Amino acid sequence: MKVLKFGGTSVGTVDSLINVKKIVESGETSQIVVVSALGGLTDRLIATANMAAAGDSSYLQEMEAISLRHFNIISQLIPEDKRAGVLDRVSKLLTELKRNYDGVYLIRLLPVRTLDMIVSYGERMSSVIVAALIEGAELHDSLSFVKTEKWFSKNIADQKLTYSLIRKEFENFSGIAVVPGFISTDRDTGDVTNLGRGGSDFTAALIAAALDAEILEIWTDVDGFMTADPRIIPSAKVVPNMSFVESMELCSFGAKVIYPPTIYPVFHKNIPIKILNTFNPTAPGTLITESAPLPDFPVKGISAIKGTTLFTLKGDTASNVPQINSRTFNAMARKGITVFLVSQPDGSGAFSFAVAEADADSAAELLASEFAPELAKGALAEISRSDDLATIAVVGENMKNRNRLGPRVRNTLFRDGIEVVAFSEGVSDTNISCVIPLPHLNRALELIHALFF
Ligand code: ADP
Ligand code: ASP
Ligand code: MG
Repeated sequence: MKVLKFGGTSVGTVDSLINVKKIVESGETSQIVVVSALGGLTDRLIATANMAAAGDSSYLQEMEAISLRHFNIISQLIPEDKRAGVLDRVSKLLTELKRNYDGVYLIRLLPVRTLDMIVSYGERMSSVIVAALIEGAELHDSLSFVKTEKWFSKNIADQKLTYSLIRKEFENFSGIAVVPGFISTDRDTGDVTNLGRGGSDFTAALIAAALDAEILEIWTDVDGFMTADPRIIPSAKVVPNMSFVESMELCSFGAKVIYPPTIYPVFHKNIPIKILNTFNPTAPGTLITESAPLPDFPVKGISAIKGTTLFTLKGDTASNVPQINSRTFNAMARKGITVFLVSQPDGSGAFSFAVAEADADSAAELLASEFAPELAKGALAEISRSDDLATIAVVGENMKNRNRLGPRVRNTLFRDGIEVVAFSEGVSDTNISCVIPLPHLNRALELIHALFF
C-alpha cells in the first residue's frame, strides 16, 4: 500500500485537481491520499480571522470569496450525480466556519482554540471535494484518529495513540481512501488542533508508518528535492537520491519542501519517501532512503533559516561557569525552544547559540533567570543578543571526511565581504552551518551554491 500526499498547490485549482485525479486513478489499487487545503487557503483563513478579531467587517466579503472558490471548483469538477451531495457537505462546513468568524467579530477576540477550529475547515472541505472527485474513493476523518497532546504552548502528535487509532481505522482496508491532512484533535479535551503549518506531510508520514506502507509519496509543485530553494536560486538542480539524515538536516534548516517532523516516523520504519511533481508526473523526482549512494561530490544541498537570533554568553571565565552548555539547553527545553546551532570557538571564552527569531524573547528571559547568579557575581560578563540574522546549512553525508569544506565556505563569504557571525561544523558530519546578517542571505546562498554546484 502507498500513501500519497498532495499539497496546497496540487489541490489549488481545477487543472491541478484534474492532475491529482489522473495520478491516483492510474495508480495502485490500495492508496491512502492525504490532502492539504486549497492552495493559499490556510493563510487566508487566518487573515480573515484576524480581520474579524480587529472588528473589520470586511471579513464577511472574505468569507464570501472563500465560499465562492469552493463552489466554483465543485461545479466545474464534480460529476452531476454527486454534485448536490458535495455542495451540501461543503455548505454545511462553510456555515460552521462563518459562525466561528461571527463569534470572533462579536467578542473581538481570537483564542488559539478558535483559530485552530477555523483553520481546520480548509482541509475538511478540500478532502470532501477530492474524495468525490476520485472514482471509488472513500473519505476518512483524521480528526478521529490523529491525536495531539499539549507540549508547552504547542500541540504535538501523540504518536502511540495515533498509530493504534490509524491501524483500527484502516484494518482490512483496501481501495482508495482520502484523508484531510494537518488536522487533529486533542487526546484529552477532544478540541480540534493541528500538526503545525505544513503539517499535512506529517499526517501522511504517521499513516505510512502506522500501516507499514511501501512508500510515502509527497506530491508538490517542483520536480523534487533541489540543491537549494528554487525561488532564491533559479539554477538549483533536482537531487535524485538523498538519505533520510540529509533530508532531515535540510528540512530542519528551512527547506520547505517537507515539514521536518515528517521524516522521523518513516525513517524509523525505513519507508522510502519520494518527492514528485503533480504538474510533471513523469519526472523521476527525488528518492529518500536510509543510505543514498554517496556521490563523488560531498554536498547534497543548501538551505537557510531566515529569522535567526544569536545569543552569546561572554566573559573570560565563561567556560568556567559550571555546565554552561547543559544549563542553557535545559533552560531552553523548559519552554520547548530548539537550539539549532552552537558555536564555541577554542579559547574565546564565549559560547554562542542560535534560536528561531520567534523564540528569541522567551529565550532571553530564560537565560537571564538561569544565569542571574553568575551575572551578579561577574562570572559571566554579559549575555548579548543579535537579531536580524540568518542561518545557512550546507548538508551532505560524510562531509567531515572531505577536507576543507568549512574553510571554503567561510573564505567564499569572506571574499565577498559577508561577515560570518557564527560558524559550526556540527556534531554530526552531515552539516556545516553559519550565521550571517539577514540582508546578505540571498547573496550568500548564491555564492555557496555556485561554489558547490
Ligand atoms: P506543498 O503545498 O505541496 O506542501 P510547499 O510550498 O510546502 O508545497 O513546498 C514546496 C515548495 O518548497 C517549492 O515550491 C519550493 O519553492 C520550496 N522549496 C524550498 N526549498 C526547496 C528545496 N531545497 N527543494 C525543493 N523545493 C524547495
Ligand atoms: N494547509 C496547512 C498549511 O497551509 C497544512 C499543509 O498545507 O500542509 O499549513
Ligand atoms: Mg508543504
